[in-house]
Amino acid sequence: MKNLTLALAIIILVSCSQDNTQDSLTIFTSRQPQLIEPILERYSEKTGIEVTLLSGNAQQLMERIDIEGKDSKADIFMTVDAGVLWQASERGILESVKSEILNTNIPSHLRDVDGEWFGLSKRARTIVFSNDQFSKEDFSSYEDLSYPKWNGKLCLRTSKKVYNRSLIASMIDANGFEKTQKVVQGWVKNLATDVFSNDTNALKAVSSGQCGFTIVNTYYLARLLSDSAYDNLELFWANQNDRGVHVNISGAGLVKTSKNKLEAIKLLEYLSSEEAQGDYASANKEFPVLIGAKIDESIAEWGSFIEDTIGVEKLGKLQKEAVFLAQEASYD
Ligand code: FE
Repeated sequence: MKNLTLALAIIILVSCSQDNTQDSLTIFTSRQPQLIEPILERYSEKTGIEVTLLSGNAQQLMERIDIEGKDSKADIFMTVDAGVLWQASERGILESVKSEILNTNIPSHLRDVDGEWFGLSKRARTIVFSNDQFSKEDFSSYEDLSYPKWNGKLCLRTSKKVYNRSLIASMIDANGFEKTQKVVQGWVKNLATDVFSNDTNALKAVSSGQCGFTIVNTYYLARLLSDSAYDNLELFWANQNDRGVHVNISGAGLVKTSKNKLEAIKLLEYLSSEEAQGDYASANKEFPVLIGAKIDESIAEWGSFIEDTIGVEKLGKLQKEAVFLAQEASYD
């Protein structure tokens, strides 16, 4: 009798723990929780699936998933920049997903060829100038900013940030190593001052007249423009006459050791859906990956733009070369 009771207790325990895994998911993310919490709450209400966020530094989260192996609670890894998602895939912590919904909603250049990760929002990196000094007609491309006519006018963020490495990678892909090296050398010659640690400070330097223009992710501009002190900052969509503006992604992938893969895939599919896309992108004033999804009002006024449709996984593959190029060009 005792044995039977024990056996029953074990069965109940096992079925409970199975229920638990079916009703909850954990996302390891380097994104700020408040950007995704409202969407996940809505998802939980709709489906009964509880979603827990564990946020932290992308490199540390990848390392943790790697070390924890089968014991990891992570079902989904979510981060920014294709370079980082590519690293996660290289590390072998993600699993290939074949989903018609994801493949339909997300353009092919914004996801991994093998389905290990998927872009969920687009992050455009382009030229922002001071309209006290310049007008739109003065600009054309990232490459143009390397010419001597711009001497002492350019402000840049450090090349140590993955954003600029990915931008350089896209130029290597488009123009080759040698030409890109010349461009980056030209940028360095044109710098008005030392490189900045972040995009916001580079923008503030443009606004104050310390330099004339910079290259930043557009959501940083959107944030500053909510303050009228920065009204003199104006966006220019780069390279509209050739390959288009450099676009990176925020995105996510299924963790290989997830114990709840079916539900994790369903959540990824939801995040790519019309219902979630507008809000997911708007939270950080980014652009949706789903064509036709709503664009945040504050950035819609910048108008549509031609984007570089380089497969973003190439930004990862070319990352090392980009780092080497920046060093060779003395771009700090
Ligand atoms: Fe950022």
